[in-house]
Amino acid sequence: MKKTVLEELEKIVGKENLSAKIADLYVYGFDASIHHKNADAVVRPANTQQVSEIVKLANRTRTPVIPRGAGTAMCGHTVPLKGGIVLDLTRMNKIKEVRVEDLYCVVEPGVIYDKLNAVLGKKGFWFPTTPGSGEACTIGGMVVTNASGMRAIKYGATRDYVLGLEVVMPTGEIIHTGTRTLKNSSGYQIDRLMVGSEGTLGVVTEITLKLAFKPKASAMTLAAFNSLFDAGKCVSNIIARPLMPSAIELMDSVCIKAVNKCMNVGLPDVAAICMIEVDGHPVAVEEELKIVEEIAKQSGATFTEASRDKKRIDYWTYARKAIMPSLSRYGEKFVSVALADDMSVPISKVPDAVVAFQKIAEENGVVIGTYGHSADGNLHTKMLVEPNSQDSWRRGERAVGQIFDKVLELGGTVTGEHGVSITKAPYMKKERADSLETMRRIKKALDPKNIMNPGKIFDWEGSIIQYLRYPAFLEQDPGDAPQPSECEPKAYSR
Ligand SMILES: Cc1cc2nc3c(=O)[nH]c(=O)nc-3n(C[C@H](O)[C@H](O)[C@H](O)COP(=O)(O)OP(=O)(O)OC[C@H]3O[C@@H](n4cnc5c(N)ncnc54)[C@H](O)[C@@H]3O)c2cc1C
Repeated sequence: MKKTVLEELEKIVGKENLSAKIADLYVYGFDASIHHKNADAVVRPANTQQVSEIVKLANRTRTPVIPRGAGTAMCGHTVPLKGGIVLDLTRMNKIKEVRVEDLYCVVEPGVIYDKLNAVLGKKGFWFPTTPGSGEACTIGGMVVTNASGMRAIKYGATRDYVLGLEVVMPTGEIIHTGTRTLKNSSGYQIDRLMVGSEGTLGVVTEITLKLAFKPKASAMTLAAFNSLFDAGKCVSNIIARPLMPSAIELMDSVCIKAVNKCMNVGLPDVAAICMIEVDGHPVAVEEELKIVEEIAKQSGATFTEASRDKKRIDYWTYARKAIMPSLSRYGEKFVSVALADDMSVPISKVPDAVVAFQKIAEENGVVIGTYGHSADGNLHTKMLVEPNSQDSWRRGERAVGQIFDKVLELGGTVTGEHGVSITKAPYMKKERADSLETMRRIKKALDPKNIMNPGKIFDWEGSIIQYLRYPAFLEQDPGDAPQPSECEPKAYSR
């Protein structure tokens, strides 16, 4: 990056909020994905005006800009593929207004999900989308990935709560979309276009969110199955009853074994578990718990336990949340990576999907753990790969292709909540073949110089196992991973 650009950035944000140090550029080259690439500069703006000036400068100098919240995205979203400026928005973290009587709040993009809910909860309200990363992820990141979570079946995704946005466009111009009213038919719904744009169409600098009423009671049933197919069937049987759960989390035997081994949580060692949550008025919750138990047993559950005790429910939820890190300790040589990790299928296809994933894993000689927010058909698979083995990565990549082909055959999507960026790009192109050109035209119209998070989504070419954060392909495809002499050896050998 030219020295003059760095000097101008320093004038905008001040010396203490700009870095071009190799250690910072290396750290900001990661998110929670398998990818890595160094940034050229990291800036931490304090307000919309500064964001606008940074983007104007980037536009003038054709420098890539990569907006970044907490960096918890799992597909390479914040990895600066073409270098450029990583725009860290976590200093913009004010909750500006909470108007419960009007059912909305206004926040800056760097507000953390759990922190917002801590404030709303005191007033009897919440923003209920419940991403698994809620302790860390920011509202800005959630908006542009259309994040959701285990409660989407009942409460929807982030897009269902966005009433309006302030956006710095790729020219640096500041625009306001949407309203602060619950209804709005006033022209193009540009806020909807920004939802899911993954930092490629502008920088979201303020968000108006609709509030939901917090349920008065909730309870959970843990149901154990000797067949993964039966567990999947239980999900669609509950929905078809009809009964609206607030969540159903499914775990297969690989995930159960991993959390039992790593966290010693003592979950039943069976083929699959469903954790079924219901919420609402206390009387309705009691009635629904009984129906859930009945359906689980009819679907083949060999064991059920219902609980209204918050401590017990938190314990099960803790075990569920421990899946991802625990899988990395499933076997000595493996790490768990986000590959094919976020597909969604029609609810009735959950049993076919989970069984197919296991078969694909066996055929390719890879270990796959399947779990997910199965109530709305959203499944997560984590693949265990040997990080230094090219063969292991190639087998993983082959399995990913087969999994996504199966998902599309079942009428699903390659990503229910995490988004596309790099890791899903080739498969999303298959899924959206007839609308890719429209997406490209929108991008070109709004960002003709292609400065906003370039090289992602429809712009990505080639294999998903490029720009790996692991050293397997370092000789063939180094990206600009730092050499050992440039940084801490410990960081390099991760
Ligand atoms: C353990 C774990 C569990 C997870 N569970 C879930 C889950 O249940 N549901 C789910 O949906 N996701 C989940 N995720 C993925 C991730 O947390 C979400 O996508 C989250 O919304 C990302 O928020 P972030 O602040 O970390 O954004 P980042 O990772 O920093 O950025 C994500 C994308 O948004 C862009 N961006 C960020 N802020 C802005 C802004 N203000 N303006 C414009 N663009 C911006 C970035 O350029 C990038 O493309 C999980 C991740 C982890 C690590």
